[in-house]
Amino acid sequence: MILTLTRLLNAIWSFCFPRFCPGCAVEMTPYEDPCCLSCQSQLAFTHFEKYPINPVFQKMQLLLPVEYAATMIYWEDDAVIQKIIHQLKFGGQESLGSWLGSLLGQRLQKSPFKSCTAIVPLPLHVKKQKIRGYNQNQKVCEQLAEWLNIPLLENAVFRSKNTVQLSNHYHIDRFKEMKSAFQLNLDLDLKAPHWLLVDDVLTTGATLQSCGQALLQYPNAKLSIVTLASRM
Ligand SMILES: [Zn+2]
Repeated sequence: MILTLTRLLNAIWSFCFPRFCPGCAVEMTPYEDPCCLSCQSQLAFTHFEKYPINPVFQKMQLLLPVEYAATMIYWEDDAVIQKIIHQLKFGGQESLGSWLGSLLGQRLQKSPFKSCTAIVPLPLHVKKQKIRGYNQNQKVCEQLAEWLNIPLLENAVFRSKNTVQLSNHYHIDRFKEMKSAFQLNLDLDLKAPHWLLVDDVLTTGATLQSCGQALLQYPNAKLSIVTLASRM
């Protein structure tokens, strides 16, 4: 009787407030959150966090000195992960950041990334953040900090240059555009931090290189990098 009543209430709730999957736009059941089970099953996890030497580490190591580097999910154009990250960044679906941060935290819990001492979300320029209303990396990092029990330092570095949309640039131009785009916060009081820099998508690595260089200006600092997804 109670079960039937619960189902009835769920059906009424879904009818009045339908929720659509950010991955495939199909209406979700009350038990699916924040995307449908079919889309969740399509996420292609890399498992790179288990292996200190992996393709993302090898790529980032060419750009700056990193202790560890990994990405959680293989990026594919038009795949579920692209649609989910698009909704996170441009569709106002901030809660997707918390969900992805939780998935990432669970994976990094038993990995070398646990030795990091401060989590840093890659910052947006203040103007861009004002338009978007939030920094998607901040939402990811809030969950990550809880799972790893590592402090979140959202003000460790800031974006001093409002760069143009990089997807329209050729590879070499991206590095030029990103040069000196970030500045370290000089008011920090830390001892030899091991930064864990977090971004949504790794493409050329130009943005992460620029931000990582700013963080490495801190005395005796070490740097590790993780992203939600990466083009391979
Ligand atoms: Zn879906």
